[in-house]
Amino acid sequence: MIFTPEKLKIKDQRMRPFIDANELWGYLKQSKATKERVREIIAKSLDKNRLTLQETAILINADEPDLIEEIKQGAKALKEKVYGQRIVLFAPLYIGNMCTNNCSYCGFKASNKKIQRVTLNNQDLVDQVKALEDAGQKRLILVYGEHPWYNAKFIADTVRTVYSVKSGPGEIRRVNINAAPLDIDGFRTVKDAGIGTFQIFQETYHEETYMKVHLSGVKRNYDWRLTALDRAQEAGIDDVGIGALFGLYDWRFEVMGLVRHTNHFEAVYNVGPHTISFPRIQHASEMKISADHTVSDEAFTRLVAILRLAVPYTGLILTAREPAAIRNEIMQFGVSQIDGGTNIEIGGYTKDGATEPQAADKQSSAKQNIDREQFQISDNRSLNEIMEELIDQKYIPSFCTACYRLGRTGEHFMEFSVPGFIKRYCQPNALMTMAEYLEDYAPPETKIKGYAMLQEKLDEIDDKTLKDKLEANLRKIKEGARDLYF
Ligand code: SAM
Ligand code: SF4
Repeated sequence: MIFTPEKLKIKDQRMRPFIDANELWGYLKQSKATKERVREIIAKSLDKNRLTLQETAILINADEPDLIEEIKQGAKALKEKVYGQRIVLFAPLYIGNMCTNNCSYCGFKASNKKIQRVTLNNQDLVDQVKALEDAGQKRLILVYGEHPWYNAKFIADTVRTVYSVKSGPGEIRRVNINAAPLDIDGFRTVKDAGIGTFQIFQETYHEETYMKVHLSGVKRNYDWRLTALDRAQEAGIDDVGIGALFGLYDWRFEVMGLVRHTNHFEAVYNVGPHTISFPRIQHASEMKISADHTVSDEAFTRLVAILRLAVPYTGLILTAREPAAIRNEIMQFGVSQIDGGTNIEIGGYTKDGATEPQAADKQSSAKQNIDREQFQISDNRSLNEIMEELIDQKYIPSFCTACYRLGRTGEHFMEFSVPGFIKRYCQPNALMTMAEYLEDYAPPETKIKGYAMLQEKLDEIDDKTLKDKLEANLRKIKEGARDLYF
């Protein structure tokens, strides 16, 4: 059954479903990609303008290898121009895998009898957070199945617990959420616990496909999910994260759906989504999905570059679902956040070797337990290995949470829209959080590399006042001060 707004008793016009498959396909069928148009569109994006649906469709239809290359180079230039070389790091923490839905792609689906159902109790949660803090993490995303146990109060309680855990110099400074849609009161309850971003992925914007892959449970209600983040905004949560699960339907359509969703937020709330995620389907226990829409590595790279250009002010998140090589390749085309030291087994962070720096081999055998996990991840590197690789590749790893802590909502939007913001705030803050990591958690080799990069970046700062302030703060960090930011 298709749920209409009337059946859902949605009275608020703002929460009317806004995806029209014919409209999106219409753009894709009618937009022709000439070299001139593609170049104009890339230039428009490099001028920091969001693209229209038609312009996005033109980039999607640009199939010739040299045009694809121009799009990728455009995305790379935009990332460098707008965001610089910082990459924000976070880790996912799975709280519980009870689930009443039957999403055919997910190992947690209710019909999967092979999976062990686990929910962290308060002590387990504290232990997991301690282990994450001991590895150097500062930003987490808490992940939940959809189940009456995981109601708004439960989610808010887990958020408060996470913030309360302090292990040595460690603390979690930003807790994001990936959980099932709530009603407005529910979102308010979770907001009051001090969350950062609330993420909900539509999975597929194509309703017919949506109904095919969501076999039963509340999640089968396409409109309830599509309007979920409108309810979050109504509840005062300004930082919302959207996403599509690539591989369910044609990637071209899903990119259009993500851009349409973005336009909708801009039109109604005057602010686009804080982040966009683009997970690709990975193998999962008892997964039953046709391979008709499998997204190749080449198409995946293309779609990330197109998204970067289409929505230049939004953070793009790339997760450990993808192998290290793909992550390294795609990061240059506009990704702003990645997870590091990821373990998606429930309770997995306290297993032997799970958070030790450079314990990747140990981790991979400990981690790949398909009957305890939602799906298989492909990047098992420890946080420290990722830190080192980022530094080697001249990225600045960042755990910065300054905007959120100072009430500057929409950190990525600030970076994008306020001239000079990155130089004055983001980059120095990233360097200070990196210095904290180097002092508290890094093995000697990483520390040497990290401080060498820090010096290089300091030398590049021309603003003397800023440089002096930053140097003073870095000295304070060496002497034991923590949590300094501009
Ligand atoms: N249960 C909630 C829900 O479905 O919204 C919250 C989180 S769910 C655990 C997180 C996301 O994982 C889903 O939104 C989906 O996009 C993604 N996911 C599920 N199965 C996957 C698979 N086999 N491969 C990659 N990502 C998957
Ligand atoms: Fe449950 Fe979410 Fe998995 Fe669907 S994707 S089965 S709702 S955990």
